[in-house]
Amino acid sequence: MDNKLKILFVSSEFNPFAKTGGLADVAGALPQKLLELGNDIRVVMPKYKRIDAANFEYVTSYTVWVGAKSEMLAIRKTEVADIDVSKPKLPVYFIDSFYFERDELYGYPDDGERFAFFCKAVLDLLPQIDFKPDIIHCNDWHTGPVCMLLKENEYYNTSEFYKNVKTIYTIHNLGYQGIFPRDIIYLFNVPDSVFNHEKAEFYGNFSYMKAGIVYSDLVTTVSKGYADEIQTAYYGEKLDGILKKRSADLRGIVNGICYDKCDPETDNKIYKNYSIDNLSDKYVNKYRLQEEFKLPQRSVPVIGLVSRLTEQKGLNLVFSKMDEMMKNDVQFVLLGTGDREYEEGFQHFRDKYPDKVGVYIGFSAMVASRIYAGCDMFLMPSRFEPCGLGQLISFRYGTIPIVRSTGGLADTVIDYDGNKDEGTGFSFHDFVASDMLYAIERALKVYNETPKEWETLVKRVLELDYSWNRPAKEYNKIYNELLLEGK
Ligand code: ADP
Repeated sequence: MDNKLKILFVSSEFNPFAKTGGLADVAGALPQKLLELGNDIRVVMPKYKRIDAANFEYVTSYTVWVGAKSEMLAIRKTEVADIDVSKPKLPVYFIDSFYFERDELYGYPDDGERFAFFCKAVLDLLPQIDFKPDIIHCNDWHTGPVCMLLKENEYYNTSEFYKNVKTIYTIHNLGYQGIFPRDIIYLFNVPDSVFNHEKAEFYGNFSYMKAGIVYSDLVTTVSKGYADEIQTAYYGEKLDGILKKRSADLRGIVNGICYDKCDPETDNKIYKNYSIDNLSDKYVNKYRLQEEFKLPQRSVPVIGLVSRLTEQKGLNLVFSKMDEMMKNDVQFVLLGTGDREYEEGFQHFRDKYPDKVGVYIGFSAMVASRIYAGCDMFLMPSRFEPCGLGQLISFRYGTIPIVRSTGGLADTVIDYDGNKDEGTGFSFHDFVASDMLYAIERALKVYNETPKEWETLVKRVLELDYSWNRPAKEYNKIYNELLLEGK
């Protein structure tokens, strides 16, 4: 029987307040589920300029030492209601400071100082609100130093208040590490011995990600596949050695998605709601999507892709096989924003194949939903993918994923040709463009030649359950184990 725990969930992003990637979706869903399991869980994040705090409650103000400087901040709070208003509301605290009054979340020369300030402000918040957590759950590089401060900063490691507080550090993407020049260490008031390759030093610099990995009591990442992969040189981003050392304390838990918000039966962003019992309405979405993307409205397989346009996502494979892909009777629809070379590359293919390729460069939750609902297939040829949400959202909308079998994609997509009775998509193993094309063509073959089989596959993925219920229980279990072990 699990105990009811006090948990502080620390994140630099939280959907709907601030999002650049999957971390925001996790923060916006997992704590709510942990609350529903009976825990006293609170979230803390920066109050960025884009967050309207007009209706938030003012809680308190205090100063935080960042090296030799003392900086003032205000704490604001709101309670986030679930779609189901009968459920308890989640308290979210905001660190309000000039450090976060910027247009973007990250990408500033003083990011190291901004998040050093954030980490200290988070720990100093706890006595202010008289909340002594059993567990502090940190996420990604922005929060890694919290784990280090508790163990190495003389104030926190001698104070009765912080005694026995355990930390969990979740890696959502090892590719973003928060690496700063060595002098950043002076902002934390920790001994110089921290600057050691066994600790937070990283090739002559200081790594916030490494601080989280080394100093947390337990490390998790967002799939079992990725947990294994990051202990190898290919995926380990030069941290595989330290991750291997922590192997016994490293767990993989596949993310869920919010089943209430992503529901083809109720999603008001899509053209027509549908369910497993009236799949013909899914195809209404397809025709309207074709119309919106100025493609011929006809019965042809449509492949979608919604993604940050970065090297990680394997878009080079798509570029190198686009001409061959277009030899098939197929349409391709992309929504994404990111690196200019990819944005321009997709626009080039739209101009080259105006009857087959639709492109929307930008970020839009509405267009994303319409693509998930309106497409037949969803392409994710990622070079690496810690968990991946796109394939899970596709399942939810009855759209069949075509993925590179890596990280969370390998954990969640079963290749159809390898196992017709259990297959949930099409996958390829090596990061090779011709293998991707072969997986796409296998999917097209089933779609075109055996429509009944395709329908069975669509119905099968519609019945999968990738809601947050299961992962929330797994996190709850490891929180309890961590406390029981008394590590
Ligand atoms: P990552 O966190 O690496 O970006 P994930 O697959 O874990 O990748 O999560 C990406 C999330 O962001 C998904 O919910 C996806 O639908 C959404 N997304 C990505 N790009 C866009 C975009 N341009 N517009 C709307 N949603 C997007």
